[in-house]
Amino acid sequence: MLVGWGGNNGSTLTAAVLANRLHLSWPTRRGRKEANYYGSLMQAGTVSLGLDAEGQEVFVPFRTLLPMVSPDDLVFDGWDISSLNLAEAMRRAQVLDWGLQEQLWPHMEALHPRPSVYIPEFIATNQSARADNLIPGTRAQQLEQIRRDIRDFRSCAGLDKVIVLWTANTERFCELVPGLNDTAENLLRTIELGLEVSPSTLFAVASILEGCAFLNGSPQNTLVPGAVELARQHRVFVGGDDFKSGQTKVKSVLVDFLISSGLKTMSIVSYNHLGNNDGQNLSAPPQFRSKEVSKSSVVDDMVQSNPVLYAPGEKPDHCVVIKYVPYVGDSKRAMDEYTSELMLGGTNTLVLHNTCEDSLLAAPIMLDLVLLTELCQRVSFRTDSDPEPQGFHPVLSLLSFLFKAPLAPPGSPVVNSLFRQRSCIENIFRACVGLPPQNHMLLEHKME
Ligand code: NAD
Repeated sequence: MLVGWGGNNGSTLTAAVLANRLHLSWPTRRGRKEANYYGSLMQAGTVSLGLDAEGQEVFVPFRTLLPMVSPDDLVFDGWDISSLNLAEAMRRAQVLDWGLQEQLWPHMEALHPRPSVYIPEFIATNQSARADNLIPGTRAQQLEQIRRDIRDFRSCAGLDKVIVLWTANTERFCELVPGLNDTAENLLRTIELGLEVSPSTLFAVASILEGCAFLNGSPQNTLVPGAVELARQHRVFVGGDDFKSGQTKVKSVLVDFLISSGLKTMSIVSYNHLGNNDGQNLSAPPQFRSKEVSKSSVVDDMVQSNPVLYAPGEKPDHCVVIKYVPYVGDSKRAMDEYTSELMLGGTNTLVLHNTCEDSLLAAPIMLDLVLLTELCQRVSFRTDSDPEPQGFHPVLSLLSFLFKAPLAPPGSPVVNSLFRQRSCIENIFRACVGLPPQNHMLLEHKME
């Protein structure tokens, strides 16, 4: 179930799964295109199994290593403060080629987002015009309605599991206040009393209480300490924050490369402009602030990993700018400049220009998040010190590859480096089929 189902990401993901299930193809000015899942680690990525008898590496698709849910078996539902049906939402998003939209229209027209919780102070005022599909009542009544929606969907569609994914607009940060949202008990009381709680936290609480994993694709601090404690109490997975799609993904590769090569990166300047509704919402300072924080934390672990280059507390200057330019729509432009110190006073400046359809990057990530979370719900393991089988910690840090500001269990290190995040997933998958972790030594090829 997607919160913000009628947005660019929500409608694009729904369209992508339908287009693949229906094996659609459509004409474009560069020839006929067929539905695919490029950009999905699980559907389009591969993993090495090792060497064959001839010493050649054998790769298999990620999705075939373990029994995973097929995207064809997903059923979509969700909420949006805007009442447009999914076909109209797809048209509003202006992401897909016209020929594809035409074919999808009859399949998407019947999909209607459920009314949602709108608390104007959490998103930009420029969003008020689309808020025509709302759950009335007190916070406690709204929470109950979301829980009823989840139960209704589960039983009407005859589902095994429901996973809730927040892909609605970026909210401003919620203040962390002792007594308000610091414990599960206080958070539930806050909702009961109608005190300050963000819509996304209400959705997280409703999902957890219904036993459904909750994933946060936006940067705000939805998973306040009280929500995390509630997830632990109910043994439900939560994950976040903020889909790692374009610029940040490149950053988590490039800075890893620079610092791990021994170059001292001193300044990172990231400039974006985009013209979709996400961009319009982010043009308001409090919502931009949430994004700025989430985009800025991404190099911390790499800097801390190298005390040869950086003194304690020292870090590169890091500046993030986002501008709203309606004309470019969902085609986001990102310009980045990385300046590093070379030996003997030299300077290296790298400049990058990235243009892409934002939602076509985000949708496969959303798919991976859901499929990986579902898989993790079926994994258990024993340790030497505890013979009882146990599952992963409710804060599912295995999803870090897909999140800009990965949530990790309290006290555990946050890993931002993309390759380390990928090998975490790869090696856990390998462990599940009894293979040792991939270490890339290739000793077989280093002997006479
Ligand atoms: P969008 O504005 O097109 O879609 C968001 C949808 O959420 C809208 O349809 C809006 O009506 C709805 N909405 C707002 N508040 C709601 C609420 N309380 N309940 C239910 N629905 C609500 O934005 P998008 O491009 O689809 O992006 C969605 C989110 O994902 C944004 O927060 C964005 O920052 C985040 N994100 C996107 C990308 C990407 O697209 N590449 C990457 C990282 C994060």
